[in-house]
Amino acid sequence: MNEEWAMTLQPPLWVWIIVIGFIVQISCAGWVNDHAKRMGKESPDRALWTIIAFLFPILGVLLYITIALKPTQESHARQTETKTCTFCGRDLASDARWCDACGRALDKTLESTD
Ligand SMILES: [Zn+2]
Repeated sequence: MNEEWAMTLQPPLWVWIIVIGFIVQISCAGWVNDHAKRMGKESPDRALWTIIAFLFPILGVLLYITIALKPTQESHARQTETKTCTFCGRDLASDARWCDACGRALDKTLESTD
């Protein structure tokens, strides 16, 4: 009778595997979400990587490190080549012909009035 009680109170091995797996998933997703936030990634990208890290804990974190961090470095390098809109002051890519914010032409050749 006592042994039966002990058996029912002791969770089976698969319960531990699921619980530990879940903790790993939460930690990986939490780490990726936190890291993406610090890297300044915006919502859709961040949410996507958090979901990937949750579904595939170890693989997702490795993918995040190898894929997601590379474009950030490239975009950071590209950010040095910027110009400012003369009308509204928005930062734009150096090759931008039109302002994203106010929609005015930045290239003087396109803005021929006469
Ligand atoms: Zn503008």
